[in-house]
Amino acid sequence: MKRFLFYFLITGVLTMISAQNSNPFFEEWNTPFGTPPFDKIKNEHYLPAFKAGIEEQNKEIEAIVNNSEAPTFENTIEELEYSGSLLTKVSRVFFAMTEAMTNDELQSITKEVSPMLSKHNDDINLNPKLFARIKSVYENKDKFDLNTEQEKLLEEYYKGFVRGGANLPDDKKEEFREINKQLSLLSIQFGENVLKETNKFELVLEEKDLDGLPENVVAMGADEAKARGYENKYVYTIQRTSIYPFLTYSTRRDLREKIYKAYINKGDNNDELDNKKIAAKMAALRVKKANLLGYPTHAAFVLEEQMAKTPTAVYDLLNKLWEPALNVAKKERDDMQQMIYDEGNDFELEGWDWWYYSEKVKKAKYDLDENELRPYFEVTNVINGVFDLSTRLWGITFEERNDIPKYHPDVKTFEVKDKDGSHLAILYTDYFPRDSKRGGAWMDVFVKQHVDKDGNFVAPIVYNVGNFSKPTAGKPALLSLDNVNTLFHEFGHALHGMLAHTVYPSLSGTSTPRDFVEFPSQVMENWCMHPDVLKNYAFHYETGEPIPDELVQKIKKSGKFNQGFATVEYLAASFLDMDWHTLTEPVEKDVIEFENASMNKIGLIKQIAPRYRTTYFNHIFSGGYSAGYYSYIWSEVLDADAFAAFVESGDVYNQEIAGKYREYILSKGGTEDAMELYKKFRGSEPGIEPLLEKRGLN
Ligand SMILES: [Zn+2]
Repeated sequence: MKRFLFYFLITGVLTMISAQNSNPFFEEWNTPFGTPPFDKIKNEHYLPAFKAGIEEQNKEIEAIVNNSEAPTFENTIEELEYSGSLLTKVSRVFFAMTEAMTNDELQSITKEVSPMLSKHNDDINLNPKLFARIKSVYENKDKFDLNTEQEKLLEEYYKGFVRGGANLPDDKKEEFREINKQLSLLSIQFGENVLKETNKFELVLEEKDLDGLPENVVAMGADEAKARGYENKYVYTIQRTSIYPFLTYSTRRDLREKIYKAYINKGDNNDELDNKKIAAKMAALRVKKANLLGYPTHAAFVLEEQMAKTPTAVYDLLNKLWEPALNVAKKERDDMQQMIYDEGNDFELEGWDWWYYSEKVKKAKYDLDENELRPYFEVTNVINGVFDLSTRLWGITFEERNDIPKYHPDVKTFEVKDKDGSHLAILYTDYFPRDSKRGGAWMDVFVKQHVDKDGNFVAPIVYNVGNFSKPTAGKPALLSLDNVNTLFHEFGHALHGMLAHTVYPSLSGTSTPRDFVEFPSQVMENWCMHPDVLKNYAFHYETGEPIPDELVQKIKKSGKFNQGFATVEYLAASFLDMDWHTLTEPVEKDVIEFENASMNKIGLIKQIAPRYRTTYFNHIFSGGYSAGYYSYIWSEVLDADAFAAFVESGDVYNQEIAGKYREYILSKGGTEDAMELYKKFRGSEPGIEPLLEKRGLN
């Protein structure tokens, strides 16, 4: 309540709000465990709360800056860390809803709020008086007797400001801001071009062209045609959900070639949607920016903050994996070529043939039918499986609660308790698709675990969202293997949030380097498909029978299917990303020449294209993954090596190892150097052998 009165005095906005009845964001949440009161929150509550939240934080920062006492860790860094609590409170709920439960009104509020928030961030990051205080604390840090976590927090704030240009002389600051502005405009343009290119292409077919396509793929083509206004036609596009089934099943080699070429030439057609110049310009501007800040390359600037630390470390890993992966991919290619000869054909396998022939190999060698598996992966059984796994590893338990407000009837809420029975966290699960939800699966929090300013432990409130197969009339939700993996994966992120045990919120839970954060999630995928774990949760939804050994073996074998190809296309894109971002001169390169040289250097075979070519590599030119696409496999090295510790012990539920994993990996968030934490857990740096083994590349 204290906060509410405080606002009332300092903001004009509030006078208006209170006159219109209460706004839940200005009140204390008297719900179970302080969960968001979704039954009371209305669309009209967000905007006033954002405005008041920004105003609140501005006042708090003014107070820090105008403090007449000399800067200390407490009166500067801690005050800043704990500022903006109202803004955090409303942002977490609002952005959770725009992803999982959106509507036109929320979309239009987003448009209003986004520029407000980016201006607010700039106001903080470019506040010279604030930076002067942070710098003073940083330079005098030895005087403050800080513990490890405090030192890390100080470093994060100081570096964050410096990396944002706060330490540059005034004339350079102007240049810096101009580069940022250009980069952000170019990256928006890049992403828009990719989107338009993707939507533009259509392969319009007649019934006679559909040879080989299964019923559901035919139906998909018919739906797409209808949506685009065609009568009695079938349309396939270069969206991944359309092109991959087409390439997998169509017997028409000429049509496969056509759609494949359209896909790999996205953004490279020398028209108004061409992305070559934009990519080249962005790479050059990034070098310029890195140089301004004193780094030789953009990759050096980015990687300093990551677990890898240097471009050399990234290239080392990519190179170690490349040869084994390429050898397996060549073997896969040769097997398929043989199949072509055996069929009485004499053409050479090309990129557009890979999916078609690898599907034949899959049938012949692995004989895995998804529909045979689904009955063993009923959604409640799978959730119970991941709960059971957590109980066996850490003794934590899950109890469904029906007294916590929900934003949709599909949502379930659980109280998570520690092994001594004490309260640990609240978990929301929201697993089924609906129109108001975006695609994909994710984890985030309504409240981050931390210790508040008054020294109270604040328990986390975490959610998992997915788009898994829905229950249908008479049948419960039966998940695909891919769904099961995803559910365990996101639950791993949730554990990272729920078992967090730190003081400062900005270092808690999943606030770790980008190349570390997928480790606690990906490691769960090892457990979920392990035979010892499968037999504890994969029960037939009608008979209750555990999954037969024969199916378990098939799942195990199929994990290695086509891994040469998958690893090579991924690594090739990672090399391409690193090559673009280790340029040392701000010169605009010829994109095609550059890309060819990059791929020739590693000896990529012509049947495989990098997973993303430069002209549609959204991760690095329009998302936040420049010099970061390698992160997924870096994390996979960690998860495979970590899981090997359990397997080597002979017990995938080994509690001693699980205890160390909780202590050094799950509880520590970003409070210490990630590699140091890993070494404390495992006793040494990770090796790549377990990853090679897992992907069948050794
Ligand atoms: Zn993830």
